Amino acid sequence: KLFNEVQELRGNIRVYCRVRPFLPGQDKQSTTIDYIGESGELLISNPLKQGKDGQRMFKFNKVFSSFASQADVFSDTQPLIRSVLDGFNVCIFAYGQTGSGKTYTMSGPSTSKKDWGVNYRALNDLFDISLNRRNIFSLYPVKSTSDVLDLMEIGLANRAVGATALNERSSRSHSILTVHVRGVDVKTGSISRGCLHLVDLAGSERVERSEATGDRLKEAQHINKSLSALGDVIFALAQKNAHVPYRNSKLTQVLQSSLGGQAKTLMFVQINPDVESYSETISTLKFAERVS
Ligand code: ADP
Ligand code: MG
Repeated sequence: KLFNEVQELRGNIRVYCRVRPFLPGQDKQSTTIDYIGESGELLISNPLKQGKDGQRMFKFNKVFSSFASQADVFSDTQPLIRSVLDGFNVCIFAYGQTGSGKTYTMSGPSTSKKDWGVNYRALNDLFDISLNRRNIFSLYPVKSTSDVLDLMEIGLANRAVGATALNERSSRSHSILTVHVRGVDVKTGSISRGCLHLVDLAGSERVERSEATGDRLKEAQHINKSLSALGDVIFALAQKNAHVPYRNSKLTQVLQSSLGGQAKTLMFVQINPDVESYSETISTLKFAERVS
């Protein structure tokens, strides 16, 4: 194998939590984050209900504080991405309520290089280390990172974006970027095929919170259903259950060949630090705890 780092990955499912910084104008005193440990510990509490609610401890493979840069996050993701060249299928998800930084983590706030999220960095890395650029292709052939940027612009423009009370441009759809990679072992000439899925999931907030009605309500219920189906699949895989319920949603059907078996899964669990988001944060962390 070309990339020994892969062996450091214990198990096939990992969960990274990332805390979004306070946005300009938000009250920094109202943070729910009490402590972030080096080994993935996260201690949170509701500052408005001291004593009553108490502190809650969660443990993930890693927790990135609001100070973590895009480069920091990528450096812990890179080995997984490189395992695609060894023929592994890899799925990377961003999960969390609308406004928690899913798109920031996956794509970044702009297309300038320092802002690049996991997807641009991943593609750039794969192009950088492939000795022969023809090793990488997708169903839409790409030769460079800029081809990928162009392709992603088209994808984003087609993405359904609906207005809700919570966030005017909240994403009401899952966005999936799939890259097929063919790796050639330069010594033996043997060929490996791997698949990388980069998934920016729709907001996980509960229906009541977004005050949705009519079509919006149906859409929200549909999203919640597909997210819980995804949770059920990852949970079944983490438990090594014989039956994995892939067929309960379109999302899990599409990703079936890259979830389970030899495939590797990374879930970015995005949370907001503010007290208003506390109950949504708890439900996000509980979802993540179940699958980790
Ligand atoms: P989501 O995709 O989950 O709805 P976004 O990625 O759009 O959330 O993030 C919401 C807002 O917070 C955006 O203005 C984004 O730029 C900002 N943001 C999110 N994460 C970070 C971060 N780590 N550092 C700085 N700003 C962030
Ligand atoms: Mg988004």
